[in-house]
Amino acid sequence: MKITVSVIKADVGGVGGHTKPSDGLIEAIRNTVKNSADLLIDYYIGYCGDDTHIVMTHTHGVDNQQIHKLAWDAFMAGTQVAKDEGLYGAGQDLLKDSFSGNVKGMGPGVAEMEFEERPNEAFTVFAADKTEPGAFNYPIYRMFVDALSNTGLIVNKSLAAGVTMHIMDVEKAQIAELHLWEDKPTIEAALMYPGRYVVDSVYTKDGEPILDASTDRLHNIAGTYVGKDDPICLVRTQKNFPATEEVGSVFNNPHYVAGNTRGSHNMPLMPVKLNSAATINFCIPIVEALVFSMHNGKLTGPFDGFSTPDWDYIREIATKKAMAIRSQGFIHPATLVPSELEYAEGYRARMDVLETKMKPMEGTSSGEKKENYEDPD
Ligand code: 13P
Ligand code: MG
Ligand code: MG
Repeated sequence: MKITVSVIKADVGGVGGHTKPSDGLIEAIRNTVKNSADLLIDYYIGYCGDDTHIVMTHTHGVDNQQIHKLAWDAFMAGTQVAKDEGLYGAGQDLLKDSFSGNVKGMGPGVAEMEFEERPNEAFTVFAADKTEPGAFNYPIYRMFVDALSNTGLIVNKSLAAGVTMHIMDVEKAQIAELHLWEDKPTIEAALMYPGRYVVDSVYTKDGEPILDASTDRLHNIAGTYVGKDDPICLVRTQKNFPATEEVGSVFNNPHYVAGNTRGSHNMPLMPVKLNSAATINFCIPIVEALVFSMHNGKLTGPFDGFSTPDWDYIREIATKKAMAIRSQGFIHPATLVPSELEYAEGYRARMDVLETKMKPMEGTSSGEKKENYEDPD
């Protein structure tokens, strides 16, 4: 049976800042989804920091107008409560006034795929806050390219054959189809700069979807820098795909990602338990793992993937790395480069003042540059 899993998420308000949704906000979203539940086989609602996610299963395919409208209406209902309660950033991610066919490009993030359900379908949703879709570059690389992180890449026939990766250019809103193993160094060069290139989706060599990430908004609002969308990603696991523990363990080395306070710093990505608030200790970027089983579209779970005791140790590593980099305050690379600052206006104002104070230096040579210069090998 062909099932579609649609995960749609948005930040429509936080308690006292960008922390977490209120109970009333979540309740409003839940009631709206419940009222249209006849469209769905099953659903689950939760949050990561101030971003609420709706996981839906159905038979209507991807990009379905009714499913997307249901999510949009739910987030609108959440926004109304956020406004009534005076929550911070009420309706933050709803960028348009009315729904027009698809939530893509309207603010919410979408990860969805349609597939022939396996008898014991397994998938994990990774939901993150205070970061950007490029935050998944490093873990996805470890899942599908790095055999030192994933022995499945050697011993599993399907994974050893290599996968197809769709990588998006955030600046130009273009997408490239790349193939392992022949395109390995090109994939590596792209993943090197997560602010520019992000993994959109991954397929087996015979076209089975394995992973889909929420890059849609970035795709649809080209021209301005919109890289800083708190992302979600959906990964099918087991059998021909990476094992659940092979997709979870790639988050065990809290790597530095862009985001954090004012979307303007590099900080480690800390794995946390389901429905965690963003910490007010600089709002360290966080990621949750929702581990599901599914049969005939009915969900069992989520099991809280980062809840076992070993992840407390990883959280400690993340906290230490966070304190270490923030100890150098605003000095780059603790802060992002100017083009990636989310709150760039204030920085530009300071630079304008600096410009007015800049004068040419006396006694500087104005000679021509040497032509035909080549880099030494
Ligand atoms: P969110 O993107 O999670 O709303 O956070 C914004 C921010 O700048 C927090 O400091
Ligand atoms: Mg927010
Ligand atoms: Mg957020």
